[in-house]
Amino acid sequence: MKPLPPLILALLVTGCTEKTSTDALESTHTSPNLDPVKVVEPVLFVAAGLNTNGSLVRNYQRGLQYAMDYFGRYGPYYVYLLGPDSEQSVRHIYHQRALTRANADARLGSLEEQTQKFLNQPNIVNEIRSVLSGMAEGGLTWTQDPPILYEDVTTNAHGREKDPVENTWGALHEYHHVFQIAHCDTKQERTSEKNINSWISEGMATYSSAKFMGNLGLSDFEDYMLQLRTSGANIGRPSINEFLRESSDWQLNDEGYWDTGEFAQVYYMLGAWATAYLIHVLNIEEEIVLREWYYDIPRMGKSAAFRKHMGVSLNEFYRKFDAFIRQTDSVVMQIFDGQTEDN
Ligand SMILES: [Zn+2]
Repeated sequence: MKPLPPLILALLVTGCTEKTSTDALESTHTSPNLDPVKVVEPVLFVAAGLNTNGSLVRNYQRGLQYAMDYFGRYGPYYVYLLGPDSEQSVRHIYHQRALTRANADARLGSLEEQTQKFLNQPNIVNEIRSVLSGMAEGGLTWTQDPPILYEDVTTNAHGREKDPVENTWGALHEYHHVFQIAHCDTKQERTSEKNINSWISEGMATYSSAKFMGNLGLSDFEDYMLQLRTSGANIGRPSINEFLRESSDWQLNDEGYWDTGEFAQVYYMLGAWATAYLIHVLNIEEEIVLREWYYDIPRMGKSAAFRKHMGVSLNEFYRKFDAFIRQTDSVVMQIFDGQTEDN
């Protein structure tokens, strides 16, 4: 959701031939406040020239499967790992992508008409151009009208093929968004009760992906949290500490940072620390913070759901966190004392 910060984007980007794992196994998932949703296994489309030794898909799946075990199964979820090596392969994949988006309602046009309409959309024409020119872009997209589906698109997956750690990391991060979006109305403003603020979406996904990478033994979670303060880690520059020195009046719930270029610092980095504060200072169970409170958002709205599960109002939380995060590195890092990397 939203553009990724430069470093993550660079790391996520690359790839292509066609190789599909289209064995769609059906399963049923029930979450407490939603009707049972029938979802199929995620489908990966890999363009020709990529995944020749299987590592691209294997390292992506390492993150995706972990995230699905944690969050449950939501979908349909289509993963596009693309690249510039074969135009024929890329065009074939985009044709298949168009078919996944076709609506069975004949009033919307025939399958072929809907397919051509999708392929002629300016954003899709531009995206294919980016793929074929080897440009590295990507991120999560989703539909808001039937058929509801989620897509993780990487226009040049050669980069993530060469970086197994970031490949897995990105898969973990994006699937947290799939889970979030399944419990939100993204047609509403991010400030509305039925949608979530950017710090919640990006901060919690930044936290969860780093934590899960630690659980998988692929990264040092606590060191990563410290790096967000000192260097900006894999999110961007400046770091939290540099940002806070320059911007004393920042607001976690201000949605305007997407336009200022400071979104990486506020939504991703400070958002990750806000998530850490909920878990390690307010001592709310990790599963509640990362997963279970979302179940109540569609029914009661985010403010009531937050208060119910976290024990404080959002406004009270903002006030407390603001005082906390302005302390020194050594003080804030104490919240992890006595924690283990296991769960
Ligand atoms: Zn994200």
